[in-house]
Amino acid sequence: MKILNIQRMSTEDGAGLRTTLFLKGCPLKCKWCHNPESIEYGTHIEWYGIRCIGCLTCVKVCPENAIAADRDRITINHTKCSTCTVCVDECPAGALESKGKDRTVKDLFDELIRDKAYWGENGGITLSGGEALAQSAEAAELLKMFHESGVHTAVDTCGFCSRADFDKVIPYTDLFLYDIKIMDGQNHRFWTRQDNTVILQNFDYLCKRVQDSGAEIWVRTPIIPNATDSEENIGQIARFLNNRADKWELCAFNNLCRDKYERLSADWEFKNEGLLTKQKLDRLVAVAKAEGALHVIWTGNVQ
Ligand code: SF4
Ligand code: SF4
Repeated sequence: MKILNIQRMSTEDGAGLRTTLFLKGCPLKCKWCHNPESIEYGTHIEWYGIRCIGCLTCVKVCPENAIAADRDRITINHTKCSTCTVCVDECPAGALESKGKDRTVKDLFDELIRDKAYWGENGGITLSGGEALAQSAEAAELLKMFHESGVHTAVDTCGFCSRADFDKVIPYTDLFLYDIKIMDGQNHRFWTRQDNTVILQNFDYLCKRVQDSGAEIWVRTPIIPNATDSEENIGQIARFLNNRADKWELCAFNNLCRDKYERLSADWEFKNEGLLTKQKLDRLVAVAKAEGALHVIWTGNVQ
Protein backbone atom coordinates (compact mmCIF):
# COMPACT_ATOMS: atom_id res chain seq x y z
CA MET A 1 0.00 0.00 0.00
CA LYS A 2 1.15 3.55 -0.62
CA ILE A 3 0.79 5.24 2.75
CA LEU A 4 1.26 8.81 3.91
CA ASN A 5 1.45 8.35 7.66
CA ILE A 6 0.09 6.66 10.77
CA GLN A 7 -1.64 8.72 13.46
CA ARG A 8 -1.97 7.19 16.89
CA MET A 9 -4.38 8.04 19.75
CA SER A 10 -6.75 9.60 17.23
CA THR A 11 -10.14 10.71 18.57
CA GLU A 12 -11.68 12.20 15.41
CA ASP A 13 -11.91 9.23 13.06
CA GLY A 14 -14.58 7.09 14.69
CA ALA A 15 -15.53 5.97 18.18
CA GLY A 16 -13.02 5.69 21.02
CA LEU A 17 -9.26 5.89 20.72
CA ARG A 18 -8.05 4.81 17.30
CA THR A 19 -5.03 4.37 15.09
CA THR A 20 -5.61 6.06 11.73
CA LEU A 21 -3.74 4.95 8.65
CA PHE A 22 -3.61 7.71 6.03
CA LEU A 23 -3.30 6.39 2.48
CA LYS A 24 -1.93 8.32 -0.50
CA GLY A 25 -4.08 9.39 -3.40
CA CYS A 26 -7.53 10.95 -3.79
CA PRO A 27 -9.79 11.27 -6.85
CA LEU A 28 -11.17 14.61 -5.60
CA LYS A 29 -9.23 17.83 -5.36
CA CYS A 30 -11.26 19.88 -2.88
CA LYS A 31 -10.04 23.45 -2.84
CA TRP A 32 -10.21 23.52 0.98
CA CYS A 33 -8.45 20.15 1.43
CA HIS A 34 -6.90 19.79 4.91
CA ASN A 35 -4.62 16.94 3.83
CA PRO A 36 -3.16 18.31 0.57
CA GLU A 37 -0.10 16.10 0.98
CA SER A 38 -2.35 13.06 0.52
CA ILE A 39 -3.94 14.04 -2.81
CA GLU A 40 -1.21 12.79 -5.15
CA TYR A 41 -0.99 9.02 -5.49
CA GLY A 42 2.81 8.90 -5.70
CA THR A 43 5.65 9.95 -3.43
CA HIS A 44 6.41 13.67 -3.11
CA ILE A 45 9.02 15.86 -1.42
CA GLU A 46 8.22 18.45 1.27
CA TRP A 47 10.34 21.37 2.49
CA TYR A 48 10.32 22.31 6.23
CA GLY A 49 11.36 25.97 6.28
CA ILE A 50 11.83 26.05 10.05
CA ARG A 51 14.73 23.57 9.77
CA CYS A 52 16.33 25.00 6.62
CA ILE A 53 19.74 26.71 7.06
CA GLY A 54 19.77 28.11 3.52
CA CYS A 55 22.89 26.24 2.33
CA LEU A 56 21.36 25.60 -1.14
CA THR A 57 22.87 22.10 -1.32
CA CYS A 58 19.51 20.82 -2.55
CA VAL A 59 19.48 23.29 -5.46
CA LYS A 60 22.97 22.13 -6.52
CA VAL A 61 22.42 18.37 -6.24
CA CYS A 62 18.99 18.09 -7.86
CA PRO A 63 19.51 16.26 -11.19
CA GLU A 64 16.20 17.58 -12.58
CA ASN A 65 16.72 21.26 -11.70
CA ALA A 66 13.43 20.99 -9.83
CA ILE A 67 14.48 23.07 -6.80
CA ALA A 68 14.75 26.84 -6.73
CA ALA A 69 15.71 29.28 -3.98
CA ASP A 70 13.38 32.24 -3.91
CA ARG A 71 14.31 34.87 -1.30
CA ASP A 72 13.91 33.08 2.05
CA ARG A 73 12.31 29.90 0.81
CA ILE A 74 12.92 26.79 -1.24
CA THR A 75 10.35 25.83 -3.86
CA ILE A 76 10.05 22.44 -5.49
CA ASN A 77 8.64 22.03 -8.96
CA HIS A 78 6.66 18.82 -8.45
CA THR A 79 6.10 18.41 -12.18
CA LYS A 80 9.84 18.22 -12.80
CA CYS A 81 10.71 16.24 -9.64
CA SER A 82 11.44 12.54 -10.26
CA THR A 83 11.33 11.79 -6.48
CA CYS A 84 14.88 10.42 -6.61
CA THR A 85 15.34 11.68 -2.98
CA VAL A 86 18.92 12.85 -3.61
CA CYS A 87 18.02 16.21 -2.03
CA VAL A 88 16.54 14.49 1.03
CA ASP A 89 19.71 12.47 1.51
CA GLU A 90 22.05 15.42 0.97
CA CYS A 91 20.24 18.10 2.99
CA PRO A 92 22.43 18.66 6.10
CA ALA A 93 19.53 20.00 8.15
CA GLY A 94 16.88 17.35 7.55
CA ALA A 95 14.70 20.05 6.00
CA LEU A 96 13.47 17.92 3.12
CA GLU A 97 11.31 14.85 3.57
CA SER A 98 9.97 12.23 1.21
CA LYS A 99 6.25 11.51 1.75
CA GLY A 100 4.58 8.31 0.60
CA LYS A 101 5.97 4.91 1.54
CA ASP A 102 5.23 1.50 0.06
CA ARG A 103 4.31 -0.99 2.78
CA THR A 104 2.93 -4.52 2.54
CA VAL A 105 -0.43 -5.32 4.11
CA LYS A 106 1.17 -7.93 6.39
CA ASP A 107 3.87 -5.51 7.51
CA LEU A 108 1.27 -2.83 8.34
CA PHE A 109 -0.92 -5.28 10.23
CA ASP A 110 2.03 -6.53 12.31
CA GLU A 111 2.95 -2.97 13.26
CA LEU A 112 -0.56 -1.62 13.91
CA ILE A 113 -1.96 -4.55 15.88
CA ARG A 114 0.52 -3.66 18.64
CA ASP A 115 -1.72 -0.63 19.35
CA LYS A 116 -4.57 -2.93 20.39
CA ALA A 117 -3.79 -2.33 24.08
CA TYR A 118 -5.05 1.27 23.96
CA TRP A 119 -8.01 0.77 21.61
CA GLY A 120 -10.14 -0.72 24.38
CA GLU A 121 -13.66 -1.90 23.58
CA ASN A 122 -14.76 1.15 21.56
CA GLY A 123 -11.65 2.10 19.63
CA GLY A 124 -9.89 0.44 16.73
CA ILE A 125 -8.37 1.06 13.34
CA THR A 126 -9.45 3.63 10.71
CA LEU A 127 -8.33 3.72 7.09
CA SER A 128 -8.34 7.29 5.80
CA GLY A 129 -6.56 9.34 3.20
CA GLY A 130 -6.52 10.58 0.58
CA GLU A 131 -9.21 8.15 -0.37
CA ALA A 132 -8.99 4.82 1.46
CA LEU A 133 -10.96 3.00 -1.25
CA ALA A 134 -8.61 4.11 -4.02
CA GLN A 135 -6.55 1.12 -2.81
CA SER A 136 -9.59 -1.04 -2.13
CA ALA A 137 -8.07 -4.48 -2.72
CA GLU A 138 -5.26 -3.92 -0.20
CA ALA A 139 -7.60 -2.04 2.14
CA ALA A 140 -9.99 -5.01 2.16
CA GLU A 141 -7.14 -7.41 2.90
CA LEU A 142 -5.96 -5.29 5.82
CA LEU A 143 -9.46 -4.73 7.20
CA LYS A 144 -10.11 -8.47 7.03
CA MET A 145 -7.04 -9.17 9.17
CA PHE A 146 -8.19 -6.70 11.83
CA HIS A 147 -11.79 -7.87 11.64
CA GLU A 148 -10.73 -11.46 12.22
CA SER A 149 -8.66 -10.28 15.20
CA GLY A 150 -11.77 -8.77 16.80
CA VAL A 151 -10.75 -5.16 16.16
CA HIS A 152 -13.35 -2.46 15.35
CA THR A 153 -12.71 -1.22 11.80
CA ALA A 154 -13.62 2.07 10.12
CA VAL A 155 -13.24 3.39 6.57
CA ASP A 156 -13.20 7.10 5.83
CA THR A 157 -14.37 7.69 2.25
CA CYS A 158 -15.35 10.54 -0.07
CA GLY A 159 -17.61 8.06 -1.87
CA PHE A 160 -16.07 8.74 -5.28
CA CYS A 161 -15.24 5.15 -6.18
CA SER A 162 -16.96 2.12 -7.68
CA ARG A 163 -19.56 -0.12 -6.08
CA ALA A 164 -17.04 -2.93 -6.48
CA ASP A 165 -14.67 -0.99 -4.20
CA PHE A 166 -17.38 -0.85 -1.54
CA ASP A 167 -18.25 -4.53 -2.05
CA LYS A 168 -14.66 -5.51 -1.25
CA VAL A 169 -14.58 -3.79 2.17
CA ILE A 170 -18.20 -4.03 3.39
CA PRO A 171 -17.79 -7.52 4.96
CA TYR A 172 -14.91 -6.29 7.15
CA THR A 173 -16.00 -2.74 8.03
CA ASP A 174 -17.88 -1.78 11.20
CA LEU A 175 -18.15 1.94 10.49
CA PHE A 176 -18.15 4.08 7.35
CA LEU A 177 -17.23 7.74 7.68
CA TYR A 178 -18.84 9.15 4.53
CA ASP A 179 -18.31 12.69 3.26
CA ILE A 180 -21.26 14.49 1.69
CA LYS A 181 -20.05 17.98 0.88
CA ILE A 182 -22.27 19.73 -1.63
CA MET A 183 -25.60 18.72 -3.17
CA ASP A 184 -25.62 21.07 -6.17
CA GLY A 185 -23.77 19.28 -8.98
CA GLN A 186 -22.27 22.38 -10.55
CA ASN A 187 -20.99 23.71 -7.22
CA HIS A 188 -19.60 20.30 -6.38
CA ARG A 189 -17.63 20.22 -9.63
CA PHE A 190 -16.33 23.73 -9.00
CA TRP A 191 -15.09 23.06 -5.46
CA THR A 192 -13.94 19.44 -5.73
CA ARG A 193 -13.23 19.08 -9.49
CA GLN A 194 -15.55 16.06 -9.66
CA ASP A 195 -19.24 15.36 -10.16
CA ASN A 196 -21.26 14.22 -7.13
CA THR A 197 -23.63 11.79 -8.91
CA VAL A 198 -21.52 8.72 -8.14
CA ILE A 199 -21.03 9.84 -4.53
CA LEU A 200 -24.78 10.17 -3.95
CA GLN A 201 -25.60 6.91 -5.74
CA ASN A 202 -22.94 5.08 -3.74
CA PHE A 203 -24.44 6.44 -0.54
CA ASP A 204 -27.84 5.01 -1.50
CA TYR A 205 -26.16 1.69 -2.29
CA LEU A 206 -24.19 1.61 0.97
CA CYS A 207 -27.29 2.35 3.05
CA LYS A 208 -28.97 -0.72 1.57
CA ARG A 209 -25.92 -2.95 1.98
CA VAL A 210 -25.29 -2.11 5.65
CA GLN A 211 -28.79 -3.28 6.51
CA ASP A 212 -27.31 -6.77 6.12
CA SER A 213 -23.74 -6.15 7.22
CA GLY A 214 -24.75 -4.19 10.34
CA ALA A 215 -22.15 -1.47 9.82
CA GLU A 216 -22.81 2.08 11.00
CA ILE A 217 -22.60 5.12 8.73
CA TRP A 218 -21.49 8.50 10.01
CA VAL A 219 -21.79 11.31 7.49
CA ARG A 220 -19.40 14.25 7.66
CA THR A 221 -19.93 17.61 5.97
CA PRO A 222 -17.01 20.04 6.10
CA ILE A 223 -18.42 23.52 6.73
CA ILE A 224 -16.28 25.70 4.49
CA PRO A 225 -16.86 29.47 4.22
CA ASN A 226 -18.63 30.39 0.97
CA ALA A 227 -18.33 26.84 -0.36
CA THR A 228 -20.45 24.42 1.68
CA ASP A 229 -21.81 26.64 4.45
CA SER A 230 -25.06 27.86 2.92
CA GLU A 231 -28.33 27.04 4.64
CA GLU A 232 -29.63 25.86 1.28
CA ASN A 233 -26.83 23.28 0.97
CA ILE A 234 -27.33 21.96 4.50
CA GLY A 235 -31.09 21.75 3.96
CA GLN A 236 -30.58 19.82 0.72
CA ILE A 237 -28.16 17.39 2.38
CA ALA A 238 -30.62 16.86 5.25
CA ARG A 239 -33.37 15.96 2.78
CA PHE A 240 -31.07 13.63 0.86
CA LEU A 241 -29.86 11.83 4.01
CA ASN A 242 -33.39 11.47 5.33
CA ASN A 243 -31.96 10.17 8.62
CA ARG A 244 -30.27 7.20 6.98
CA ALA A 245 -26.96 8.00 8.72
CA ASP A 246 -26.40 7.01 12.36
CA LYS A 247 -24.71 10.35 12.91
CA TRP A 248 -24.20 13.52 10.85
CA GLU A 249 -21.34 15.82 11.75
CA LEU A 250 -20.96 19.37 10.47
CA CYS A 251 -17.18 19.83 10.76
CA ALA A 252 -16.23 23.48 11.24
CA PHE A 253 -13.49 24.91 9.02
CA ASN A 254 -10.06 25.82 10.42
CA ASN A 255 -6.89 26.92 8.67
CA LEU A 256 -4.45 24.84 10.72
CA CYS A 257 -3.25 23.10 7.58
CA ARG A 258 -1.82 26.21 5.91
CA ASP A 259 1.76 25.15 6.76
CA LYS A 260 1.15 21.98 4.77
CA TYR A 261 0.53 24.06 1.65
CA GLU A 262 3.75 25.99 2.32
CA ARG A 263 5.70 22.76 2.57
CA LEU A 264 4.28 21.74 -0.81
CA SER A 265 5.24 25.09 -2.36
CA ALA A 266 1.55 25.61 -3.08
CA ASP A 267 -0.76 28.56 -2.54
CA TRP A 268 -4.04 28.03 -0.63
CA GLU A 269 -6.99 30.33 -1.14
CA PHE A 270 -8.31 29.69 2.39
CA LYS A 271 -5.06 30.54 4.21
CA ASN A 272 -6.38 33.80 5.68
CA GLU A 273 -9.91 32.57 6.36
CA GLY A 274 -10.84 32.70 10.05
CA LEU A 275 -12.89 30.36 12.20
CA LEU A 276 -16.67 30.29 11.89
CA THR A 277 -18.88 31.53 14.69
CA LYS A 278 -20.83 29.34 17.09
CA GLN A 279 -24.00 31.16 16.00
CA LYS A 280 -23.38 30.17 12.39
CA LEU A 281 -22.94 26.48 13.24
CA ASP A 282 -25.90 26.47 15.63
CA ARG A 283 -27.97 27.98 12.83
CA LEU A 284 -26.90 25.27 10.34
CA VAL A 285 -27.76 22.55 12.86
CA ALA A 286 -31.16 24.22 13.33
CA VAL A 287 -31.69 24.25 9.55
CA ALA A 288 -30.87 20.53 9.39
CA LYS A 289 -33.23 19.79 12.30
CA ALA A 290 -35.99 21.81 10.66
CA GLU A 291 -35.68 19.39 7.74
CA GLY A 292 -36.17 16.50 10.17
CA ALA A 293 -32.51 15.55 10.85
CA LEU A 294 -32.30 13.70 14.17
CA HIS A 295 -28.61 12.91 14.65
CA VAL A 296 -26.90 16.09 13.55
CA ILE A 297 -24.19 17.91 15.53
CA TRP A 298 -21.40 20.34 14.75
CA THR A 299 -17.78 19.76 15.75
CA GLY A 300 -14.54 21.73 15.71
CA ASN A 301 -13.32 25.10 16.92
CA VAL A 302 -15.21 28.38 16.58
CA GLN A 303 -14.41 32.09 17.08
S1 SF4 B 1 19.82 21.52 1.45
FE1 SF4 B 1 18.34 21.57 3.14
S2 SF4 B 1 19.12 23.20 4.51
FE2 SF4 B 1 20.16 23.47 2.52
S3 SF4 B 1 18.84 24.97 1.43
FE3 SF4 B 1 18.15 22.91 0.84
S4 SF4 B 1 16.48 22.47 2.26
FE4 SF4 B 1 17.64 24.17 3.13
S1 SF4 C 1 13.68 14.30 -5.17
FE1 SF4 C 1 15.31 14.36 -6.74
S2 SF4 C 1 14.33 15.34 -8.51
FE2 SF4 C 1 13.00 15.74 -6.75
S3 SF4 C 1 13.63 17.72 -5.99
FE3 SF4 C 1 14.81 16.20 -4.82
S4 SF4 C 1 16.72 15.90 -5.96
FE4 SF4 C 1 15.29 16.97 -7.32
